[in-house]
Amino acid sequence: GLNTRTPLIAGNWKMNLDHLQAVAFVQKLHWTLKDAKHEDGSVEVAVFPPFTDIRSVQTLIDADKIPFALGAQDLSAHDSGAYTGEVSGAFLAKLDAKYVIIGHSERREYHAESDEVVAAKTKAAIKNGLVPVICVGETAEDLEKFGASAVPAGQLEVALQGLSKDADIVVAYEPVWAIGSGQAATPQQAQDVCAALRAVIAKVLGDDAAARTRILYGGSVKSSNIASFMREPDVDGALVGGASLVVDEFAAIIRFEK
Ligand code: PGA
Repeated sequence: GLNTRTPLIAGNWKMNLDHLQAVAFVQKLHWTLKDAKHEDGSVEVAVFPPFTDIRSVQTLIDADKIPFALGAQDLSAHDSGAYTGEVSGAFLAKLDAKYVIIGHSERREYHAESDEVVAAKTKAAIKNGLVPVICVGETAEDLEKFGASAVPAGQLEVALQGLSKDADIVVAYEPVWAIGSGQAATPQQAQDVCAALRAVIAKVLGDDAAARTRILYGGSVKSSNIASFMREPDVDGALVGGASLVVDEFAAIIRFEK
C-alpha cells in the first residue's frame, strides 16, 4: 500500500554540547532551516541532548515555537524511588520530551543493557507517554557469523514482547560496525534489515503496526548519503550521531531530496 509514514530525522548528540552550547546550536539550526520542509510537517526533526540540556532546549523550543521534537538518550525502567543517578520517563514527559532512545549500542556495550532491560525501558517509556526509539543492530562479529538481520530481529522481538498493538514506537536499525566509523551500510543492506524488522513488528504487533511504525537507519549518516537511504521503501528516516553536531551538515541532512 501507500507509505504515509512521515520521515523522522533524529539527532543523537550523545555526550556532547552542554546546555549553553545546546541552546546556541538549536537557535542556529532553526535559523539555517528557515523555509525548509520540516516547517510544513513533511519531515519531522528531533534532537536528543544530554539530560542536563533538556530543560534549556525545551524552554527555547517552546518560547520561539521551533518545530523540533525533543528526546532523551535513555531513561530508567522505574518511575521513581531509590535509583541513584537515574532519570524517569515521568520526569522526561513533564519536560515535554516526546521521544526517548532505548538500547543504543553504547548503552548495551558500556552499561551491559540486555534485551530484557531494553524491553523494561520500552514499557516504562510507553507507560509515561513517551515514544521509545528502540535501537537494534549487529556487531561486525555478528554480521560474519549470522548475517545482518538475525541479531537485530532477535533484539527487536524481545523489546516488543507484551506491547499493545497500538503502541506508538520508532525502531532504529544501527549496525554497530557502522556507528562512528565513517563506514555506513549500503542502502540495500539497510533496506534488507529494515524490511526484516518490519516483518518482526508484523509478527508481534500485527500488520497495522508494521505499516505505521517508522524504522530509521543509523550509522555514519551524512548529507552525502542520506538521500540514498531515504529512497529505500522500508527506511523512514535516520538516527544521526556525529553529523547531527554540525549545524550545516545536520541541516543538509534534514533537507534531503530523494
Ligand atoms: P554516527 O552515530 O552517526 O556518528 O555513526 C549514530 C548513532 O550512534 O546513533
